Amino acid sequence: MAVFGRQFDIIVAGAGHAGVEAALACARMGLSTLCLCLNLDSIALCACNPAIGGTSKGHLVREIDALGGEMGLAADETFIQMRMLNLSKGPAVHSLRAQIDKNRYHMRMKYALERQEGLTVAQDECERILVENGRVTGVRCAGGTEYGCRALVICAGVYLKSLIHIGEYSREQGPSGLARATGLSESLQELGFELRRFKTGTPPRVSRRSLDLSKMELQPGDEPIPHFSFLTDRLEREQKCCYLTYTNSETHSAILSNLDRSPMFSGRINAAPTRYCPSIEDKLVRFKDKERHQLFIEPEGEFTDEMYVQGFSTSLPRDVQQLALRTVPGLENCEIMRWGYAIEYDCIDPTELDPTLGSKRVAGLYFAGQINGSSGYEEAAAQGILAGINAALFVKNEAPFILRRSDAYIGVLADDLATKGTNEPYRMMTSRAEYRLVLRQDNADLRLTEAARRTGLISDARYDRLMYKKDELIRAKEALSAVAPPNATVNGLLISRGESPLVTGARLDRLLRRSTVSYTDLLRLFPELPDISEEAAFELETEAHYGGYIERENERIRRFEGQESVRLPADIDYSAISGLRIEARQKLSSLRPLNLGQASRISGVSPADIAVLLIKLKEMNEKRRGGEAE
Ligand SMILES: Cc1cc2nc3c(=O)[nH]c(=O)nc-3n(C[C@H](O)[C@H](O)[C@H](O)COP(=O)(O)OP(=O)(O)OC[C@H]3O[C@@H](n4cnc5c(N)ncnc54)[C@H](O)[C@@H]3O)c2cc1C
Repeated sequence: MAVFGRQFDIIVAGAGHAGVEAALACARMGLSTLCLCLNLDSIALCACNPAIGGTSKGHLVREIDALGGEMGLAADETFIQMRMLNLSKGPAVHSLRAQIDKNRYHMRMKYALERQEGLTVAQDECERILVENGRVTGVRCAGGTEYGCRALVICAGVYLKSLIHIGEYSREQGPSGLARATGLSESLQELGFELRRFKTGTPPRVSRRSLDLSKMELQPGDEPIPHFSFLTDRLEREQKCCYLTYTNSETHSAILSNLDRSPMFSGRINAAPTRYCPSIEDKLVRFKDKERHQLFIEPEGEFTDEMYVQGFSTSLPRDVQQLALRTVPGLENCEIMRWGYAIEYDCIDPTELDPTLGSKRVAGLYFAGQINGSSGYEEAAAQGILAGINAALFVKNEAPFILRRSDAYIGVLADDLATKGTNEPYRMMTSRAEYRLVLRQDNADLRLTEAARRTGLISDARYDRLMYKKDELIRAKEALSAVAPPNATVNGLLISRGESPLVTGARLDRLLRRSTVSYTDLLRLFPELPDISEEAAFELETEAHYGGYIERENERIRRFEGQESVRLPADIDYSAISGLRIEARQKLSSLRPLNLGQASRISGVSPADIAVLLIKLKEMNEKRRGGEAE
């Protein structure tokens, strides 16, 4: 018998990386919010690698922070090592990665939820979505409790009917030995959602004292220590090291000679695997000629002996895992504390969603995270904050908050999922972002914070910091319009940098365009220049050094946004547009894109179809105008 719990504005089912951001966003936007999860001790659980960020994922974390989210702040508070990746490459791919203390990260996020005004956190399993007249009205939990709501965000991650595999051993459970969720899958299917099976995997954890770290290469953190959040000033802490070792031919033969016992290769797992986080057995099959594979040995935290073997994700039987690992330099006597395993789980087809991550099937229903077919803490958290903001705006009856591909990596993520869909766990990569020189991690605040101000998520402190940085940039740009005389000092600097000396005066901003010249150099030569923050100086230098490329990218963005601004009527009958090819009619009718740009990215919709649509829209507008004139 159903027992009515309470009425909330919004319910968030799940407190993983997506659920935490969604719940905090809704409560901080002033709405009464309930956050449900299967086990409070697994809030923001890092079920896989003890790290936040990395290539392109660092961009997502910075964007979440710029929108007023929590992940960046939590990573800055619980990191044990920070490294800026890809510094040898251009700023478009510079990405921050934090090694974090998993347990402290969990506690930090749990406490953030518990302290958040307007947010109720409860351990309960959402089993049924309650819908009336096509609109969500609440949930029923295991045990029969019902809660009412005006919007619901499902962030159930890898728990829906999850099944883990370690060789021939399988078990119906969630990650890290936690219980799984069952009923929600049926409830989604009853609402008409098609569910797919995806799979991901994780490596074993070994005990540090059983390792010989002297046989490995040290991987220290960066000094000074970079940080994620635009609210963080300076980080000072003794950093932990990671260690690099390699597999070898012995490792490879131990694995390849037991491939038939790997559930992925024996056919026991019939789910789409993660192409970009492959298991070790997958890597050996796909890259046969590679003599060795890197393994990074990473501490899981400050007060634990557990070490994560990055690069050795596997679902091989226990005996094979141990046999193979003990062939690796430094792991000869390793003690495995947790076995690697694969997990398969239910997820939805994200083309069921629009770019707000709202369902096109049920009003007020949103989805975020792994349940949308993505993979990764950062991808989940990015979807969580976007879905949370939009669920709140839906309840407030305000215009949705859509991030376009030209605004943010989060925009690329949401658009890829909603428009193109995915047949395997989707992981963000810089190559997915067409405008990555503009979408750098260092300018996420300049790109997003002001736009997010209307959501109510941006605190005054964050806004003031942004305004201060903007003011720094304006003052410095003005001052850089001054002219540098071709004197010995200036030319001394240029020659020392292998640059051609000045013969006539040159504006300082033109000097800054020289890739070897920094703002600090100019400040030393021209102390009248404003002394600005490192972040602002980096922004100026990047804009100057890559000015031409950025301008060309902005030109492409202008064209892109032109197509994005051509809205498509929600009720247009694509099947009646004769010039469209049949495949295009079917795809457009099922996906119902919001604008011409989104339509052009649907696979199976050709440029010729877009031209036909443009003509149709023109006809419709003329007809409407004709009608209005009468
Ligand atoms: C074994 C394993 C290996 C992984 N490997 C990788 C990898 O290699 N690379 C990578 O990028 N990512 C990997 N991940 C993925 C990463 O952990 C997830 O992407 C991330 O945790 C997804 O976050 P989420 O918030 O969507 O879901 P989760 O973190 O899974 O959280 C889901 C939340 O929903 C709650 N919940 C579920 N069902 C219900 C319900 N019915 N009612 C109430 N609450 C519910 C749970 O209690 C939990 O709080 C791996 C994950 C696992 C488990």
